[in-house]
Amino acid sequence: MTINPEGSGEGRNLDAGMLAVLHRLMAADRDIAQAHASLDRRPKELDLKRREVATQEAAVRTATDTVKVAQKRIDRKSLESDALEADVKKLEGQLFSLKTNDEFEAMKHQIAQRREKDDLIQTEVLELLEALETLKADEAGEKDKLRALQANLAKAEERVRAELAVAETEVMAKEEARQALRDQLSEDLRALYDVAHERRGSGVARLVDQVCKGCDTQVTMNVLGAVMARKLTRCPHCQRILVLES
Ligand SMILES: [Zn+2]
Repeated sequence: MTINPEGSGEGRNLDAGMLAVLHRLMAADRDIAQAHASLDRRPKELDLKRREVATQEAAVRTATDTVKVAQKRIDRKSLESDALEADVKKLEGQLFSLKTNDEFEAMKHQIAQRREKDDLIQTEVLELLEALETLKADEAGEKDKLRALQANLAKAEERVRAELAVAETEVMAKEEARQALRDQLSEDLRALYDVAHERRGSGVARLVDQVCKGCDTQVTMNVLGAVMARKLTRCPHCQRILVLES
């Protein structure tokens, strides 16, 4: 066994047992990375549903505002009608205190005019009330849609929470298995593995066609030769320990 001056052990021969552990560690690192990626993806699934809820909340607000505007218009028209009716009553009260026939006729004409106007307003109010019913039904429909989307989101959140809990337990188990493998490494290998693992999330990479699959960089023939000779060799670019395909 040749230990280099820094004591890293690079260049020394690796036995089949250590190589097997390195291969299994490589698989464990990849597995854990995939598990983490899948953990990160799950909460993102909820984003679309949250956006749908937000969009529907806006639709409900618009529908509610439309109902309010329509209601205000009806209220205003009703007040106008009330005022006209009060006016008619007042004029009718004065009708018989008038002295001349002309005055009487003029007053009757004024009353008729107000009644006509009031009829028009009341017709309009009826139409508006009908329209209001439709608007209220629309609003209720939008609210129903919102409730359905909210329920759907809550269900999805619950499911994702449960899935995350399971996945996190799985990741912990995988991490424990990885640690057990790492403990099987000789001290020098472990030190080199840890450096790359800490920096890159994986400590071992395959060398395929003279390319390090950890960082997709081509290595020299010397490096390839050393790996083929089962010497402890690291990728000069990413520092991962290099192994050949098993
Ligand atoms: Zn590399």
